[in-house]
Amino acid sequence: MLTTIDELRNWSNEQHAAGLTVGFVPTMGALHEGHLSLVKAANERCDKTVVSVFVNPAQFAPNEDFHKYPRPLENDLKVLKSAGAPEVFVPSVAEMYPDGFDASVHIGGVSQPFEGQFRPVHFSGVATVVLKLFNAGQADIAFFGQKDYQQVCVVRKMVSDLNVPVKIAVCPIVREPDGLAMSSRNRYLSAEHRRQAVVLSRSLAEAERLISVKKEQKVKNIVAAMTKTICTDTDFTVDYAAVADPETLRELDIIDPLKHSAVVILLAAKIGTTRLIDNAVIEL
Ligand code: AMP
Repeated sequence: MLTTIDELRNWSNEQHAAGLTVGFVPTMGALHEGHLSLVKAANERCDKTVVSVFVNPAQFAPNEDFHKYPRPLENDLKVLKSAGAPEVFVPSVAEMYPDGFDASVHIGGVSQPFEGQFRPVHFSGVATVVLKLFNAGQADIAFFGQKDYQQVCVVRKMVSDLNVPVKIAVCPIVREPDGLAMSSRNRYLSAEHRRQAVVLSRSLAEAERLISVKKEQKVKNIVAAMTKTICTDTDFTVDYAAVADPETLRELDIIDPLKHSAVVILLAAKIGTTRLIDNAVIEL
């Protein structure tokens, strides 16, 4: 296990010196099948894989769940061992943010709507830590999940605008058998709320049916149907449900297949103290 930035950089340099490619999977731990799908993709596409496990304080607001975020490190290490035993990078907060640390990466545009509205500090925290991890890890390809769709847009924009020499690979959302997108935060749900959480993926399926089968073009009708699916007879409240351009994340009012070859449906909803996000890309 590597714990310092120097160790990670040296490890990566050694792999490259031996002519090997490096895949990087950044995570906050509490690993599940979603994370492991990224590790599998990295193992397939790269000679060596490194997985980081770091709960990044900079991407949580003071009222969010940084302190209660699950940190089952021993189990994570065990799980990774049976997932091809990648190298693991587990830095301390002091290693990543030493005394006097005073930088932050701001990405405009794609970080502003949706999560950016509800979690104003989130994406600068994400961009800052991801850039630090990229600089330390020197990977050839970094693997992210479509589960965090807007995060992928922010990371891509950062890599492109700041000329970061890494390729970004995006892996599909891994879901529970009932459709709930896997998330480390699902473990916060009570049994009853876990049962209700199926409405999130159902609302995306409903939106997809309206768009692809019913040819509904008015986003307000799609959002109304999604909200109804999510909130009827459940304890959910919706932070946002929206249809957007899959690249710019500009919100759409009308879905016009002549203007768009695909759209992304994004949603965030709260149940009790747990906030969940999900999304679906729909080809038109
Ligand atoms: P996290 O530990 O939540 O920061 O997630 C680490 C990486 O795993 C991110 O790139 C996520 O998008 C990805 N990820 C999380 N959940 C899933 C999932 N259900 N399917 C695919 N990727 C996921």
